[in-house]
Amino acid sequence: MAKMRKDLKRIHEYHERVVGVLKMLESAPAEEQNPVQIKFLKLMLDYNENITDAAENHKPLICTWYGNAQEIAAGMGIKYYNPVFELLFHLELTDYQDAKECDHFPLDEKMCSLIRYAVYSVYNQFHPKPDCFLAMGEPCDGELMLHQAFKVNKEWKDVPHFIIDPSYGHTDEDYKYVAKQLKDMIAFLEKTTGTKYEFAKVREIVEETNRQYEVWKEVNELKQARPCPIGSFITDDMFWALTQHLPCGDPRATALMTVVRDMMKDAVAAGKGVLEKEQIRILWPDLAPQWGERLGKWLEEEWNAVVVMSFQGNTPYEKIDTSTEESMLFGLARRSVFEVPMIRQGRGFVDVMIDDVTDLINTYSINCVIDGGHMGHKDQSGSKYFLRKVCRDMEVPLLGLTTSLFDERYTPLDQLKKDISNFLSTTGFKRAKDM
Ligand code: SF4
Repeated sequence: MAKMRKDLKRIHEYHERVVGVLKMLESAPAEEQNPVQIKFLKLMLDYNENITDAAENHKPLICTWYGNAQEIAAGMGIKYYNPVFELLFHLELTDYQDAKECDHFPLDEKMCSLIRYAVYSVYNQFHPKPDCFLAMGEPCDGELMLHQAFKVNKEWKDVPHFIIDPSYGHTDEDYKYVAKQLKDMIAFLEKTTGTKYEFAKVREIVEETNRQYEVWKEVNELKQARPCPIGSFITDDMFWALTQHLPCGDPRATALMTVVRDMMKDAVAAGKGVLEKEQIRILWPDLAPQWGERLGKWLEEEWNAVVVMSFQGNTPYEKIDTSTEESMLFGLARRSVFEVPMIRQGRGFVDVMIDDVTDLINTYSINCVIDGGHMGHKDQSGSKYFLRKVCRDMEVPLLGLTTSLFDERYTPLDQLKKDISNFLSTTGFKRAKDM
């Protein structure tokens, strides 16, 4: 048997694990199957197979991050991967194997765990070497260090890279400044991958993403219903993966999002929520945590509480005008530096975070805010004062935690449960068993 390439070993492992999970899910009786979960995993498989195919058959392949206008790469027929997307997905399936391995990786342990995983992943060749990588110039200094680390890694030192200089503000002039750079990025992609940019093809992808963000908005409107028709973090996680990590503008992703929307529509029409006696509606003003599913289940069972919205699930996305190339690139620039979460709240003026929190509390009838307090995330920590002020002014209780959103060992879940329970009981909420 031919020996497998080192740089394909890990993604093959991911592939086999997902195949196994799928087999297990599909072997359950039809009435117990979750078709959304199955279809989502099939898209994950496709993503994985595309990377292998590109690497084995010398097709264009790049490494990039969310917020780097992936619509362009997808429209140019370039396959792309995010260095931590699958790693994070598989943590839960492997008892945090990579997180434990990463403990021995020589990077400061206080550094954001997302950054640590990304450097660890590239240095261990968990993905095939790309034709180029698109670095992320925002929102934190960790991101800048991350790509310098990529550059000095011996396997990647000759890999060309491109970085967008993000604007600080959020005016049309700012977006024009970024849109101009997207043109340079297109030329860079053509040169490094040998592909050709065609406006019509990228436009097709962008239009499909416009439809996806429209469906996502409708889903969020349904979440305004009381009781909330879906559990904590579910659409925040799934839709973020479908729009930012899995191949952009895939109509199968739109169809999947539409199925979820329709299920939620039916639930709202029938007055059904994920909780019969919904008591607490929580805003989580950050990315959804890796361990969000377990935290969400516990909140539901123990406190009749549901995380209705997070920054990751929020949809400030404006429809991109695709009538001309200029308007399309302008819209993509705005999406990249002003709409994608983490970048939206982390970069530039704090007023965006203040306005978002105010608006989300009002729109989703939030009666409690829990701030995950991700370690190493300095801009978020720096804006805690403003978060506290908004919550005080609106008379909504706020709990500030310190966690790693991507490694539950940083503050074990049992400790979090104690802290959250203390907070909710002192705030006057009742445990589910006492209601
Ligand atoms: S989570 Fe925070 S610290 Fe980590 S990469 Fe994102 S912005 Fe930077």
